[in-house]
Amino acid sequence: MNKVELAYYELGSKSDRPIDIKKAWLRENRAHFCCLACADVYPKSGPLDPIVVDARGGHSQFHLPLEFVSKIRYEIIRDDLLAVLDPDACEYLNLGVLLDETGKQIPNYHTAQAKIAVLLRGGMESSNNGVCNRCGRRRYWPMPHGHGYLLRSTFQEGVPILRVQVGNFAVNQAIRDRIVAAGLARGMYFIKRPVLDEPEDGLPVDLKFYEKV
Ligand SMILES: [Zn+2]
Repeated sequence: MNKVELAYYELGSKSDRPIDIKKAWLRENRAHFCCLACADVYPKSGPLDPIVVDARGGHSQFHLPLEFVSKIRYEIIRDDLLAVLDPDACEYLNLGVLLDETGKQIPNYHTAQAKIAVLLRGGMESSNNGVCNRCGRRRYWPMPHGHGYLLRSTFQEGVPILRVQVGNFAVNQAIRDRIVAAGLARGMYFIKRPVLDEPEDGLPVDLKFYEKV
């Protein structure tokens, strides 16, 4: 029986629509950001490349502390949320800028990707379709829906922010508390992700998020 001592909180935006990306730009650039076979985003080892948003009508589509772009699966963080993550979590993030079609930077927001990726695991009914033969990404989906957990041995103790499937952040309790205390929780939701010692899906502990192909 797993003993639950630690939990992370997956962060999601309450926005009902992703930020629109400039369509022509996306057509030309999507393959640079994500795998066209499995559609998952590529991890970056440094600053994120700028993305070009469709800013018709001004910047009115930016409202919440946490927004997202669906086609590239980047999270978009407002500067006040970024300030709450600082100082400990920011060293675990790669950041980038958003541009409008004239090349002007969208103020107050950054794209963000957590550097350390871990798999959210599920129960026996989880789908495990091996790895994408184009990019090496594991094609695993935790089931039943909403009941995912993390495995203790798959990341270093004390890492404040992680990336789980679909590009979402998972933050530790301390960061969750800081977000709530700063009054920024209203625009996002938290899903509690227990940290367990043993997988409950009948698969090995060390399923890698990425495998060389
Ligand atoms: Zn792929």
